Amino acid sequence: MNVQATPQTTEWNIQRVLEWTTTYFTTHRIDSPRTTAEVLLAHALHLERIDLYLRYDQPLSSAELSIFKEFVRRRILHEPVAYITGQKEFWSLNFMVSPSVLIPRPDTECLVEAALELLPPETAGKPKRVLELGTGSGAIIVAMASERKGHCYFASEKSVAAAAQARENADIHGLTENISFFCSDWFQALRGDIQPFDMIVSNPPYVVAGEIDALAPEIAGFEPRMALDGDVDGLAALRHIVQEAPHWLQSGGYLILEIGSDQRTSMEAIALDCGAYQGVECIRDYGGRDRVMRLLLR
Ligand code: GLN
Repeated sequence: MNVQATPQTTEWNIQRVLEWTTTYFTTHRIDSPRTTAEVLLAHALHLERIDLYLRYDQPLSSAELSIFKEFVRRRILHEPVAYITGQKEFWSLNFMVSPSVLIPRPDTECLVEAALELLPPETAGKPKRVLELGTGSGAIIVAMASERKGHCYFASEKSVAAAAQARENADIHGLTENISFFCSDWFQALRGDIQPFDMIVSNPPYVVAGEIDALAPEIAGFEPRMALDGDVDGLAALRHIVQEAPHWLQSGGYLILEIGSDQRTSMEAIALDCGAYQGVECIRDYGGRDRVMRLLLR
């Protein structure tokens, strides 16, 4: 199979296509070549991955083959699988993703865990008010709301396209009523007389601007800069949120932030400088890297 040419034959069955593509991806140094081939072929054929194995001998029509070849061509150009298939699993839930949102990362489940630990499963008639800043695909707030239904969730997003994506994801998971989405540059759209929040969570952009181009081409070439770019020192958004959050948090409330694995010391200094927090704690991800800061307001 030549991805450049249009084959005139239907001799390609699922097994042969998978074998050919696995070799092709290996040659082009694409990660997890076999899995990637399976995910893309299943998507092209509107099947589950497991179905491929049950239909190994099934031939592909030339229409199916050309759809699949286009997916392979995009992947070779380093487009992330999640943008090709339009979906990504996070917290065992399926999320729709497009290039207007950052693809949810497994590391970010650590942020969700750190937040859920502090949210009681029962509201006891007193639901907590939880705000996410820069929700993107909505993965974090949707995961939280799916686990602790009774609380009141709010999520801000600067990009109109991303906010629409987040709303769609909440809708898919039946949580439209539980989460209020609004367009805002961090706290900007909040009214001064709003009732304070019990918890604010965020995975803001925290990559040093000058280091973005050195990231994997899947990230640097395809994911929204706005969701990655933490300005000259990587800390601009984190610093802004740490300094602003005390105006919107209840006394004794928590600010929970995802950070880069080398940002712990800087974050501790920023929190201390701010003077509004009584406790600062850092939590590691499953790879043992510093990943989440939990700040307790005085
Ligand atoms: N963890 C992301 C990465 O892989 C960065 C996400 C962010 O800046 N919030 O680059």
